Amino acid sequence: MQRAEKVLVGGVNSPVRAFASVGGQPLFISHASGPFIYDVDGNEYIDLVLSYGPMILGHGYPQVRKAVAAAVELGFSYGATAEKEIYLAELITGAFPTIDKIRFVNSGTEAVLSAIRLARAYTGRDKIIKFSGCYHGHMDALLVAAGSGLATLSLPASKGVPQAAVGNTLVAEYNNIDTVAELFSQHDDIAAVILEPVAGNMGVVVPTAEFLQGLAALAADHGALIIVDEVMTGFRAKFGGTQDLVGIKADITCLGKVIGGGFPVGAYGARAEIMDMVAPLGEVYQAGTLSGNPVAMAAGLATLTELQKQNPYQQFTGRTTSLAETMKAAADEAGIPVTVNAFGSMINPFFTAGEVTDFKSAQASDTRLFGKFFWQMIKNGVFLPPSQFESWFLSTALLEVEFERLEKIVYQSIINLKK
Ligand SMILES: *Cc1c(COP(=O)(O)O)cnc(C)c1O
Repeated sequence: MQRAEKVLVGGVNSPVRAFASVGGQPLFISHASGPFIYDVDGNEYIDLVLSYGPMILGHGYPQVRKAVAAAVELGFSYGATAEKEIYLAELITGAFPTIDKIRFVNSGTEAVLSAIRLARAYTGRDKIIKFSGCYHGHMDALLVAAGSGLATLSLPASKGVPQAAVGNTLVAEYNNIDTVAELFSQHDDIAAVILEPVAGNMGVVVPTAEFLQGLAALAADHGALIIVDEVMTGFRAKFGGTQDLVGIKADITCLGKVIGGGFPVGAYGARAEIMDMVAPLGEVYQAGTLSGNPVAMAAGLATLTELQKQNPYQQFTGRTTSLAETMKAAADEAGIPVTVNAFGSMINPFFTAGEVTDFKSAQASDTRLFGKFFWQMIKNGVFLPPSQFESWFLSTALLEVEFERLEKIVYQSIINLKK
């Protein structure tokens, strides 16, 4: 820890890993395998962090490992198109009715910033509506009311972001269509509305059908695009987009996490008419030395191929439904207020009695109690994201016996909060 803190900022390469909101020392990981992750002290944990989403097949899945090893034998990076970029793009466009063409990048952040540039170019307008509590990566313009990492550290926005960079960013409330309507009535130059189709960066928050229908109608009336940020949700609740399940049609979709199978991959895609504005066909410049990296493409392709074969989504929903019931039963018994939100393979409890439908209601959660719960779970062998405002993730690697163990641990950890 001391050596890490000397040479890495806060000892980490991404802020939430530092355990700032739950206290105590972060885990140092030696390796991970299947549903488990191991720290350097030799402790085994059921992993519900799963690298914040990507490891949907669990760690080191054999077919993915083989695909990566084979790709490495063929060289690491070419700076020219190779077959697997086409295959992965075909698989993704085939799974998303709203995507004809795609461009691969190296992270979710990069996917979003490119999508925003494209939406501005397409509409000839500058303003963007985002929702408080939604996180879209760390590009300047969207570091406003941005959920998990920032919520955890109680930073309203980031230093070093010039006022001019957020001057075209408008913030509305999730699940509150009136706040969106108001912004559209005040501004006639809105290029796009960006949203997570199920929010996962203020904890899990599911949109209502009325909210999404209202959003679609407003965007259509005002000639604004809808950017659906599926970096977290893509391939997590069905093979394809969560946009299909909740009922919102993306003009531009952002992807990341699962599509790289644990390697640095992001992507943005849209109908051809929009994507053809990107260079070299169009005048929207966007490039990347390592974009479409062959080793990362091999990992993504093997991951999605296996997911399509396994079709684990019904099992995911069954398990998150069951986990939610277990947590509510334990909370009732312990006399602790808990609200559980879940969607597909995403779930988390909020330590509050009220419904959680937006960032404000998420923030009503008792984060100190979450910290205690987090350490109970660690003690009992479960690694959770170290923040109230992060989703937990399920993987296909968790066997039935391990899932039953997880349920018992979750139950007992909530009961133990009473003492
Ligand atoms: C993780 C995430 C991002 C950012 O992706 P990075 O790969 O971390 O840059 C963007 N949007 C959403 C919804 C995310 O969950």
